[in-house]
Parts: sequence; structure tokens; C-alpha cells
Amino acid sequence: MTTDRNQILFERAQTRIPGGVNSPVRAFKAVGGTPRFIQRAQGAYMWDANGQRYTDYIGSWGPMILGHGHPDVLAAVQQAALEGFSFGAPTEREIELAEEIIKLVPSIDMVRLVSSGTEAGMSAIRLARGATGRKMILKFEGCYHGHADALLVKAGSGLATFGHPTSAGVPPEVAQHTLVLPYNDIEALEAAFHTHGNDLACLMIEPIAGNMNFVRASVPFMRRCRELCTQHGALLVFDEVMTGLRVGLGSAQGVYAQLIPGFEPDMTVLGKVIGGGMPLAAFGAKREVMRQLAPLGPVYQAGTLSGNPVATACGLATLKAVQQPGFYEALGAKTQALVQGLTEAAHAAGLPFCGDSQGGMFGFFFLPELPQNYATVMGTDGTRFNRFFHGMLERGHYFAPALYEAGFVSAAHTDADIATTVAAAREVFAQL
Ligand SMILES: *Cc1c(COP(=O)(O)O)cnc(C)c1O
Repeated sequence: MTTDRNQILFERAQTRIPGGVNSPVRAFKAVGGTPRFIQRAQGAYMWDANGQRYTDYIGSWGPMILGHGHPDVLAAVQQAALEGFSFGAPTEREIELAEEIIKLVPSIDMVRLVSSGTEAGMSAIRLARGATGRKMILKFEGCYHGHADALLVKAGSGLATFGHPTSAGVPPEVAQHTLVLPYNDIEALEAAFHTHGNDLACLMIEPIAGNMNFVRASVPFMRRCRELCTQHGALLVFDEVMTGLRVGLGSAQGVYAQLIPGFEPDMTVLGKVIGGGMPLAAFGAKREVMRQLAPLGPVYQAGTLSGNPVATACGLATLKAVQQPGFYEALGAKTQALVQGLTEAAHAAGLPFCGDSQGGMFGFFFLPELPQNYATVMGTDGTRFNRFFHGMLERGHYFAPALYEAGFVSAAHTDADIATTVAAAREVFAQL
């Protein structure tokens, strides 16, 4: 009989919940071993069912940019909960949050709040199709936009091929209007627009792709995406569910606007940080596009819990805190120190290793140089990654349990936390 509470809970969970988890990556399938059942978290740390403490580098996969249990956020959530959980009628905080989002993301004139990134991405596609009167959508291999049917599609074998479903239960007919291209491939992009440009409702992209660990769209590639969308009347949709308010106050579009003068996407999908850990996401665009949405226009979209009062309170308090002067500078410096420390430690152990970061989001690879697309990411040494992951976990440092996932640092992480993690990594690298 084991006394490992994680193991006991995992076995119990598996009898009642498929795989024992409510989102697949939590099951540790890629890395093996027993998932940690988290009991509580505070600041930069979480504790599992055995009482073991971890420095948290997943931050609920992005939302917890302030760390866990930030006092201002807690107070806002407690107050909101006292006032009522959900009304199914409009509230003032929804306007406040919309105003805040529009202030922070100037490419957005109007915004609709929903409850998950999946819902936001799915609705954005419907709106793009409704607004343009076109069927076809373009996405890139390795980018994740939630699990809506039309978006669960992987690339075919050729360059500009239509994708096939990555999931059972998605009829090929549903995926047949989704064109999938390799990321950062300008030639394939131009060929696809040449053939299908005038049938495309939108091009959807993770500008810094955190669902293939950390891969930036190159500046020439992004510039071409913008030009081709404009030329052909397709909407450029930025999926910033992960990067929004995570890589900087200007989000990823702010990063590209600094490199490409006048750059703006047509539509933006947000989630994660804007909810501060509560179920909240959003999509927004220019007024004329958003006016196509019900009840103003013909594109239907709705939600019982959309704009939930407790979630908006959490999101507003989080967005207020990230606007403190110097917030992203400090967060970015700590994240950079982590990536640099890991890189130096790996190189000292003679391992191929590289990493990148922007704001509080980072990625690293057991590769000599940063990959530019999904195929290269998946060429990473999985065995080595898994041994690294478990070595770190045993030492109390919780990284994402899959090599294709990004990592996150919060404002609650201290320089000492980063240094302790790098010291642990040095030990682990030496054994690889
Ligand atoms: C997390 C994520 C989603 C999906 O959001 P959920 O809230 O998990 O549905 C969509 N797009 C990107 C880029 C994400 O990182």
C-alpha cells in the first residue's frame, strides 16, 4: 500500500474521470509518472497532496501572472462573491473590464466577454466568417486555438493542403475549410494566398506560439501575413489567449508594432491573464466587425456565465496590478535571468540547449538553436526533456510536463527563487 497521496488520488480519480484529469496535459502522459494533485498555492509556490512544495513555472498555464493569492485580487473576488455569483443580466464591471481591455489593446474598439479561450477562438472564427461572408480559414501547424472542431486540424503532407482532423469525433467535412500551413514559411503562405486568398475569412495565428513551447513568428513572416490579409480582404486574427498581457502591457501585437510600423491585427482573442485565474476570455475587433455580432448583427453568440461578476472582478484587479510602473520590466528581467541561467547551466554540462522569453513567458529546447516551426520543435530530444522535468520536479520545481509547452514566471517569483531553480537545474543537467 502506497502512502503517496498523489498516487492514491490519481488512482481514485481515474475510476471516475477519464484519465483522472479534466484537461489532458495534467495527466503527465508525455513525461510519465504520477501527476501532482495540488492542494493550495501562495505566491510563487504550490503544495501537493503530500505537502511537498514546488516553485510554480506553469502558473495555471499562464493566468497567474501576479502569483497565487495576490491580496488585491483576493479582496476583489471576496467582495464580488458577497454581492452575488451570477445574475444573467448586465453589470457595471463588464463595462469596466471592456474599457480596460480596449485601453490596453488599441486594435480593439469593442469586445465580447466569454468564459474560455476555446469559446473565444470559436466565436472569433464564426464572426470572421460572418463578417466576410467567406468559409475558409487559415491556421498554422503547432498553433493551438482551443478545441473547437474547425480548429482541431493538423497540416496535411503537402505545403498548401487542407488539414485533417487531429481528433476523433471531428468529421472531415468540418475540417475541410481549414487550411493548415507550416509556421514561419513565407513561400507556403504566399502560395496559399495565391490560390485561396479571396476565399479566406481569416488567418488565425499565435504570434508567439506558446503551444509549441516558444516560437516567435519572424518579422518578415508577420509582415507578409499582414500584407496578404489586407490585399485579399481576410481578417488577421491574433490569438493572444496566452500572450495577451503576458509578454508585455502591449501584448504580442505591441511587440510586433514596435518592429513593423503601424502594425495591427484585425481581431484579437484573449484569455488566461485577463481572467487572473477565473474562467474569463474575450474577443474583440474594430467596431464594424463587432457590430456583426448578435444582438446587433446576424452572427449568433451567447453565454449563461459570460461576463461573470466574480470573474470580471478577478480580471479587473489583475489588470490593475499589471499596470503598476515597471511591472513588466521586473517580470521580464526575472524571466530572462531564468532562461539565461538554465542555458548557462546546460552548456556547462555540455548539453545542446537554447531558450527565449518575452515578458513573463519563456521556452527552452534541448536543441543548439531556436526552432522556427513545429517539425523542428518536435525534433527535440524527448527522453532528455522528460528526465529534466522529473529531476526538477523531485527537487521542487514544477515546469510544464510536456516539451511543447511554454513556461511562465510570475511577479511573485523572487531573484532567489530563480537562483534556486537554476542551481537545481545544474544538478539535473549534470546527470543528463
Ligand atoms: C490556452 C489557449 C487557448 C484555449 O483557452 P482555454 O481557456 O483553455 O479554452 C487558445 N489559444 C491559445 C493560444 C491558448 O494558449
